[in-house]
Formats: sequence, structure tokens, C-alpha cells
Amino acid sequence: MTSPVSSHGQGTPCIGILGGGQLGRMIAIAAAQLGIRTHVYAPDAQASPAGEVATTTTTASYDDVESLRRFAASVDAVTSEFENVPAATMQVIGESCLASPGAAALQAAQHRIAEKTLAAGLGIPTPRFWQIGSLQDLTLAVKALGGPAILKTCRLGYDGKGQVRISPDDDLAAALEAVGSDDAILEEMIAFDGEISALLARDAQGNMVHFPVSQNRHENGILARTVAPAPVIPAIEEAAQSATAALAQAVDLVGLLAVEFFISADGRLLFNEMAPRPHNSFHWTIEGCATSQFTQLVRVLTGLGFGDTTPYGRWQMDNLLGQHLDQVPGLLADAGNHLHLYGKPDAREDRKMGHVSHRLGD
Ligand code: ATP
Ligand code: MG
Repeated sequence: MTSPVSSHGQGTPCIGILGGGQLGRMIAIAAAQLGIRTHVYAPDAQASPAGEVATTTTTASYDDVESLRRFAASVDAVTSEFENVPAATMQVIGESCLASPGAAALQAAQHRIAEKTLAAGLGIPTPRFWQIGSLQDLTLAVKALGGPAILKTCRLGYDGKGQVRISPDDDLAAALEAVGSDDAILEEMIAFDGEISALLARDAQGNMVHFPVSQNRHENGILARTVAPAPVIPAIEEAAQSATAALAQAVDLVGLLAVEFFISADGRLLFNEMAPRPHNSFHWTIEGCATSQFTQLVRVLTGLGFGDTTPYGRWQMDNLLGQHLDQVPGLLADAGNHLHLYGKPDAREDRKMGHVSHRLGD
């Protein structure tokens, strides 16, 4: 095991985190447990669950080059808790320290056509898809597909936002208007048996460690429940992990890579999307694995070496959205629950406010 990089004469290393959301918050908590400081850079101090638990914060925009340079100079490595960080931002940071997950990983994950094209090029099956820049493109694609489809913005979608489900007879102009983008993708609607996600950590030397695969259920396009390790046959788990490894290698990723898949009714594994960061479907690893996804990322960024990812039995994780917060007293009353609340002030409907994990058994 290599020792942690020393930090600017202050004895303990410091990780920079771009973004102030709950993923950054859980990275900062994992770092603190290992005696590692964190510096959160986010544009809005009022909406920064991560900033609340970090050692230091910078409140500045992602295109403020001077602030970015000062931030990068104050830390040993920088990671981003969201994939939509502008490429130019990461380039400025990469000039002075290790930048995770790396430019190619961000570039692919920021665009639905780019990530599916990358997957397909590596021989990883995806749902059929068409690039949509106009109503004419959409009309032709819907006709070629001839069945139920889903239209999504290529950039900046999350939690099912920027998506419309369409049938061939629908008003296509209205569908295009609803997604509000001339950079869109039409995907065939997969009648899936289930959804799973895979996660790995990769270091700068290209070494990789997998986590057990998660099984996920979404409601209204938002992750509702994860059960893990996923009750799937070994061949499916192996295929998901080897596809994830191929993607991580292809983009020379440093940090974490999560990949979401569908399992089709006829048993095929299909790539849905990738996220080069901690993933909601692996929050169960905080209590459920010898090393959590957040700790693993901290270890990669500070040169502490990989931790063991053996699961402690079977786990369930449920997301707590704004409309679920009345469940909190009941959840607190059950000693088997591990409750996490992100400290967000505004409990809006469908906003991720926290999650709860509990062990299902051996
Ligand atoms: P998130 O960032 O929360 O993971 P997202 O907004 O990026 O989600 P997707 O993962 O593309 O969006 O879609 C959200 C969910 O909608 C999927 O997990 C799945 O349940 C459903 N879905 C998306 N695309 C398809 C498809 N082609 N066929 C069937 N279901 C789909
Ligand atoms: Mg998704």
C-alpha cells in the first residue's frame, strides 16, 4: 500500500470536490473518517449539502478560471460529483492536480449518443437508438422503429427529467417540444425483466476493483429501491462487470464508473447509461460492504490502495423523496434501519432528500 500524498505542508491530504450535492456530501464524510480533508467547490452556498460537511468551501461559478486555479492549487486531487461539469473546468484543474474521472469519461457520460456509441463500439449491446435534431428526424425514426419509444434530451437529463414516452400515433411535434431540445435521442422502449447497475473503481495505473452488482426499481424515472447483491445469474453479473471494465478502460477513467443496464425479457443485457462517479444504486455499500463506494473513491484519489468490496449479506436501499419525509419518525424507530438525510432545506416533491438501507439477511 502506498502512503497518502502529503498536502501542501499541512500534513493531511485534501480532496477537492466539484459540486455541492449529496454525493459530494457522502464523499466528504468518507474522507473525514480517514482523516482526509475536503474542499467543496460549488456555485451556490445555500444549496450545498456537501459544503456543510467539508473542511473548506469555495462558492464560485464553474467558469471562474481564477477561483478554479486557486481551488486546484489548494488540494491534492479533484473529483466531480456530477458528470455535467464543463470540460474547460476540468482542463483548468487538470493543469495542477489529478483530475478524476478524467476528460474522456466526462465527455462520453455527458451525452447519451456519445455513451451509447462508445458502448456499441466496444461490442456492448444497447437499445436501438436514433439521433434526433428535428421533427423530420423524429418522424423518420419513429417510423423505422414502429413501436413504443422514449425520447430523451442528450444532455443534462437526470431522474427521468427531459424524457417523453411515445407511441407511433402520438403527436410528435408536441413530444419534441416537451423534451425541449434539438439535441435528442429516440430509444426503443425495452420491455425489461429488470434493471441492474455495476460499479467499479479504477486507479491511475489501470487497476480495477468491482462491487457486487445492484438490482434497481425506478418509479416515474427515479430510482426507488435497490436490492443488492442483485439476484441475477452469474453470467449476467459477469457480463455487466466486464462491460463496465471495458468502458472504464476505453475512457482511461480514474475513480468510479457506474453503468446502468436493462435485462430484456429474452435475457439480454443492454447498456442504458454510464456515470463516472458514485451512484445512487450503491448507497447500500456504506453499511453493506467492507469498503463503501465513497471510501473507495477517497482511497483511489489519495493513493491509499483499493479496499475490499465483499458484501456483508444482502441489502435493500430505499430513496426518500420530498413526499416521503413523513416516514422518517417510523424509520428512526426501527433499529435495523440506517437512515441518511442530506440536510437539504427544501423538501420538494420528487427531490432526493435521503435514503435508508437495511440488511435483508445473509
Ligand atoms: P438517472 O440519472 O436518474 O439514472 P436519467 O434521467 O438519466 O436517470 P435514464 O436512466 O435514461 O434517465 O432513464 C430513467 C429510467 O427510465 C430507467 O432507469 C428506466 O427505468 C426507464 N427507461 C429509460 N430508458 C428506457 C428504455 N429505452 N426502455 C425502457 N425503459 C427505459
Ligand atoms: Mg438512469
